[in-house]
Amino acid sequence: MVDADTPLSAEADDHFHDECGVFGIFGRQDAAAIVTLGLHALQHRGQEAAGIVSYDGSQFHVERHVGLIGDTFTKQRVIDSLKGNRAIGHTRYATTGGAGIRNIQPFFAELADGGFAVAHNGNLTNAMTVQRALQKQGSIFSSTSDTETILHLVATSKERDLNARFIDAVRQVEGAFSLVALSSKKMIGCRDPLGIRPLVLGDLDGAWILASETCALDIIGARFVRDLKPGEMVIVTSKGIESIFPFEPQKPRFCIFEYVYFARPDSSVEGRNVYDVRKRIGAELAIESPVEADIVVPVPDSGTPAAIGFSQQAGIPFELGIIRNHYVGRTFISPGDSIRHMGVKLKHNANRRMIEGKRVVLVDDSIVRGTTSQKIVQMVRDAGAREVHMRIASPPTRASCFYGVDTPEKSKLLASRMTIEEMAEFIRVDSLGFLSMDGLYRAVGETSRDNEQPQFCDACFSGQYPTRLADLEGSDNVRTLSLLATGGV
Ligand code: SF4
Repeated sequence: MVDADTPLSAEADDHFHDECGVFGIFGRQDAAAIVTLGLHALQHRGQEAAGIVSYDGSQFHVERHVGLIGDTFTKQRVIDSLKGNRAIGHTRYATTGGAGIRNIQPFFAELADGGFAVAHNGNLTNAMTVQRALQKQGSIFSSTSDTETILHLVATSKERDLNARFIDAVRQVEGAFSLVALSSKKMIGCRDPLGIRPLVLGDLDGAWILASETCALDIIGARFVRDLKPGEMVIVTSKGIESIFPFEPQKPRFCIFEYVYFARPDSSVEGRNVYDVRKRIGAELAIESPVEADIVVPVPDSGTPAAIGFSQQAGIPFELGIIRNHYVGRTFISPGDSIRHMGVKLKHNANRRMIEGKRVVLVDDSIVRGTTSQKIVQMVRDAGAREVHMRIASPPTRASCFYGVDTPEKSKLLASRMTIEEMAEFIRVDSLGFLSMDGLYRAVGETSRDNEQPQFCDACFSGQYPTRLADLEGSDNVRTLSLLATGGV
């Protein structure tokens, strides 16, 4: 829902949005400054708010602010206040729980045996169910975020030590979680048993790092050690690192949309370089949906690697026919309704010189509501394109995500209510082609999708969710689904 304070860029950007990025470091004097840099590299995973919690050997320090990392955490006063040689941080895009300051992570609480902070990328699909049970036992929640549930479960666990209480907590939650937590003595990282969201381990001159993506290691010159395995928990202390597997083993279901759109192209996740995968996606798309055209034009920036792959496979020249203004950020708050409708023009402009008189293949990563595609196609036509053919680097997006991604409710997804022919008519293109599911699986290195036991989570394309959606069972599913998916709960 767009309200009066909605940043114009958010309205104009018709994409799924990843909810969060997490970063932690243990054993380095300038820990908070390192976390700031790591979060800056993960800014694409969330631009609404950020937080850092550090520990200096005697007390915890907490800073949580609305805005980009650079808005607050580059201020000397803020960094100086975050003392200590260990810190964790989080950058968020508000989905579940809404955008209020009380929902900014990391969450921190003083537990019976000391302070404890937790940062979460993902979304719990049984958080409301667990919260209701905890509330009946007297727990009081100070936020509307699903992540606070984990904090409460750790706090109320009857187990003896923190490791056991943490395990007790994560065994009770369902859904997607890549967690980084901090106590006075340890930093903990944990991935859900399906490994839906990424989490990597790095090393900076002997200090251990946990981060959502490898690009956050590159920015500080840290060494990539490995991806955490699905269902793995690592415990970092001053004595070293320990790895345990507290869940029943399951077949992993990593989010395939990370490769399509969420992760940064210079990151490698689950052993694959994201840019490479996106180029292969473009090549598969060119094979599956060939078209006679003069130029291949990406919808920047997310469509660019796939457009390069398409162009190379099809032998059609790649041109920057659309230029993106990178300075339309969250600071551009809509001053009124008339400006609100100019969203796409603020962000993208057609490069008329390249487009005029040409048959154009436009490549984008996905179509969500279709409104941005419609405006971009019109912009390319206005710039004189003779034909506009749209190629989409993923299968049609037909279902909402409940694993930490901001998605509109299902009924607002264009592909859930129209055939491909109707969609082509709606966005006014001469032809429209989507990548097939098997094409997407081939691009990530599989021969095809295993329909019995898919190798990835692809629920927003297939509607087959890899976990139970406990909060929806026995409820008004459509309404709860839509509320959850739009952060309205
Ligand atoms: S539903 Fe889609 S976006 Fe969500 S985790 Fe699965 S593949 Fe990723």
